[in-house]
Amino acid sequence: MRCPKCGSLEDKVIDSRSSKDGGSIRRRRECLECENRYTTFEELERIELRAIKRDGRHEPLDRHKLLNSIVKACEKRPVGLEQIEEAVGEILQGLEADQTREIPTSTIGAAVMEKLHSLDPIAYVRYASVYRQFQEIGDFIDEINSYEKRAVRTAAQPELFTAS
Ligand SMILES: [Zn+2]
Repeated sequence: MRCPKCGSLEDKVIDSRSSKDGGSIRRRRECLECENRYTTFEELERIELRAIKRDGRHEPLDRHKLLNSIVKACEKRPVGLEQIEEAVGEILQGLEADQTREIPTSTIGAAVMEKLHSLDPIAYVRYASVYRQFQEIGDFIDEINSYEKRAVRTAAQPELFTAS
């Protein structure tokens, strides 16, 4: 860090404090040249994802909204909030790993369904039916269908092996 007073690049950290959620760190530093003390603030760099709707409108991908939609699908199911939080984290990580920052809502929906499919079958069906109601017939349905075909194929696979 460059000392704001004298411009020296030599400093030492005299105190580090993590924020409550662990997402940021505040550091007290002291310049080795002039002994000026100053504070730096480090934050985890989050990749800003945007959701693109079918009509072409964009909006920031809202983690909270995503979480709520899954919580709703898992209502009265044996799925804990911690599991859901973890699932949301994994879904977002998966989306962040893609090359694009602008993600069609259909892709987000498909990622959620894939996760729910392994989490709880009832929650999966609920989520799918809600999305079927609200989304226009189109890409999204195609995506669900192709996912379901893949899922069925995967589920059928062990039988293929044991049958022979
Ligand atoms: Zn200095």
